[in-house]
Amino acid sequence: MPPIEVENLYHAYGERQALAGVTFSVSQGELFGFLGPNGSGKSTLFKILSTLIPVTNGMVRLLGYDLVHASHVVRKHLGVVFQHPSLDAKLTVSENLRHHGHLYGLWGSELKGRIHGVLDRLGIAERTRDRVETLSGGLQRRAELAKAMLHRPNLLLLDEPSTGLDPGVRKTLREYLAHLREKDGVTIVLTTHTLDEAEGCHRVGILNEGKLVAIGTPDELKNLVGGDIVLIDSSTPDQLRVKINQQFGYEATLVDRSLRVECERGHEFVRDVVAKFPAEIRAVRFGKPTLEDVFIKLTGRHLREEDKQN
Ligand code: ADP
Ligand code: MG
Repeated sequence: MPPIEVENLYHAYGERQALAGVTFSVSQGELFGFLGPNGSGKSTLFKILSTLIPVTNGMVRLLGYDLVHASHVVRKHLGVVFQHPSLDAKLTVSENLRHHGHLYGLWGSELKGRIHGVLDRLGIAERTRDRVETLSGGLQRRAELAKAMLHRPNLLLLDEPSTGLDPGVRKTLREYLAHLREKDGVTIVLTTHTLDEAEGCHRVGILNEGKLVAIGTPDELKNLVGGDIVLIDSSTPDQLRVKINQQFGYEATLVDRSLRVECERGHEFVRDVVAKFPAEIRAVRFGKPTLEDVFIKLTGRHLREEDKQN
């Protein structure tokens, strides 16, 4: 039985449809990532999985329990790291963890041992007695994760875990998550809007406007895009689009003022198109498809808003 099964999940905030019929399942020990731009419904899905928002329409089964009837049973098996901080900034790291442990029925030397163990693993043992507000963003994030892991959940849910972390800390986080899966068989679901974090997952679900538009391993998803990606900057993109179609038979699409062509032998096309239309081409970029290309292919939009500016 998969630890997460979701069927036809909808969620609306008043008139706004945040999830519009999402279906997927996650296997034991899997690292599963939801990739999507801001507003695509990641946090809404995350909050439903973490029992923060009740299921109103659709089916969610976690560890075999239907959330509609048994969210209280599931909760103690979940470790949750929200997008926004949940630690009390005025308390020390260990005070935060101690309170959390008490909520989960942990006391005394058992609790003490666990707090020490988890802080040590995350490399923040020496900050145990410091107030959370005195820690850097990266260390606070690690303390959040320590809290989520304290009661040894089977299922770990993380909403945008890498946001605000520098590359070194991201790496520590990635290694720690890998360790949890391999050693303890923990199933991990995270949400992200960054490509490298999604690349590190076993499987990725791509969310757009509340819908799951694709699901698969990063390689499977990239195979949805045929061959290579060629991006052409031109002062007359509309005319050039037509000419490329007439000359080469490729359907170029205009994505944020660049012409985007998917083709099998990209290097040959680059050579030929530059030779054919030298006056109309300002720049050409060529590469293997990324998950961003998959997203563009499926939605016609960029994943990251800031890409629209350039
Ligand atoms: P993401 O985490 O991918 O950025 P969210 O799940 O936070 O997406 O949001 C999905 C959609 O639902 C967005 O259009 C957002 O504006 C809307 N939304 C999220 N939370 C609320 C809320 N509490 N009330 C009203 N609308 C909301
Ligand atoms: Mg979010």
